[in-house]
Amino acid sequence: MNSPDTSKTQNFFGTSEAELKEIFSQWNVEAYRVHQVFTWVYHYHCRDFSEMSNISKSLRSQLAERFHFSLPKVQQRTHSKDGSIKYLMELNDGAVVECVWMPSESRKTLCLSTQVGCRLNCSFCLTASLGLKRNLTACEIIGQHIAINEELEEKDQITNVVFMGMGEPLDNYGPVVDALRLMISPEAMKVSTRKVTVSTSGLVEKMKAFQEENLHINLAISLNASDNVTRDRLMPINKKYPIEVLIDCLKKYPLKPQRRHTIEYVLLEGINDSDEDAQRLAKWLQGVPCKINLIPFNAFDSAEYRPPSDQRVLKFQNYLIEQNFSAFIRKNRATDILGACGQLATQVEVGTPR
Ligand code: SAH
Repeated sequence: MNSPDTSKTQNFFGTSEAELKEIFSQWNVEAYRVHQVFTWVYHYHCRDFSEMSNISKSLRSQLAERFHFSLPKVQQRTHSKDGSIKYLMELNDGAVVECVWMPSESRKTLCLSTQVGCRLNCSFCLTASLGLKRNLTACEIIGQHIAINEELEEKDQITNVVFMGMGEPLDNYGPVVDALRLMISPEAMKVSTRKVTVSTSGLVEKMKAFQEENLHINLAISLNASDNVTRDRLMPINKKYPIEVLIDCLKKYPLKPQRRHTIEYVLLEGINDSDEDAQRLAKWLQGVPCKINLIPFNAFDSAEYRPPSDQRVLKFQNYLIEQNFSAFIRKNRATDILGACGQLATQVEVGTPR
């Protein structure tokens, strides 16, 4: 660490290129130096300004006076039988959020959090029981990725990122956009836009603003019901932005060629899993460039829902495929270590030893 008193200095992680350019211009330092410093930090993983050998001594000490490097700490890691690792990440103020690292042959995906808790109160989601404690900053969002990568072997480095952990990304709009810019910037974390997905419960106004940011990352939408009465019950946000408004927004949302939205649909036995549900879902999604991820409900102790039988899930999927949709069953990962949204952090909160 460069500065012993981090409370008086700014965390370098989360500082945008634009902000550093602004600071350098106040210091009368050439703009291209921003690129050099970013390369040291994000490409060479340097955490000490004094080691930045192609930068003048005076700039190095100016940087060290202004910035420190701070990342969330891994407080707990739990290994699942399926190879996933669930991380509990401790933030500077002691708050905790969770991340799940999920390996497959072709990719290593990190599911990260954007808020401590959530205020959307979806009835099937355990994070909802926490309420919203606070938003994460951009550094805390990208910090989850950087800190976890630092402890993973070379072959296990994260390739894909999904914003599907705790919180509603678009309810923490500014920091999430700043974090995304750092994530996809070739100067910083260099994650391909094709490999980043933000999942939203459908905050339509924010989705409209988001498309103007021109980030071209993937969007996943948690639809989870085929009619407004059921969706109102499962996801109260539906009262503000009902299904027809959400679908209309998706139809108008500009997409790059070969790209499509992901529609997430959590299957709950007897609630949204009937043949009629599949038919209504197919109708809504006519003309929406999308693939559909069917997610059998991941049950937890206090849950009032259950996942449907495998047979029911397959029938639901088959109907959608017959209607020419790409529909996949997303087996929940890490279920043996409480892999569903919010489960580990809520366990810790109530003090259950794990
Ligand atoms: N707030 C965002 C992202 C976090 S939730 C959103 O709503 O998309 C990420 C995904 O997990 C959502 O699709 C949500 O519907 C799903 N999910 C939440 N709890 C779940 C559970 N217990 N079982 C299966 N999926 C769940």
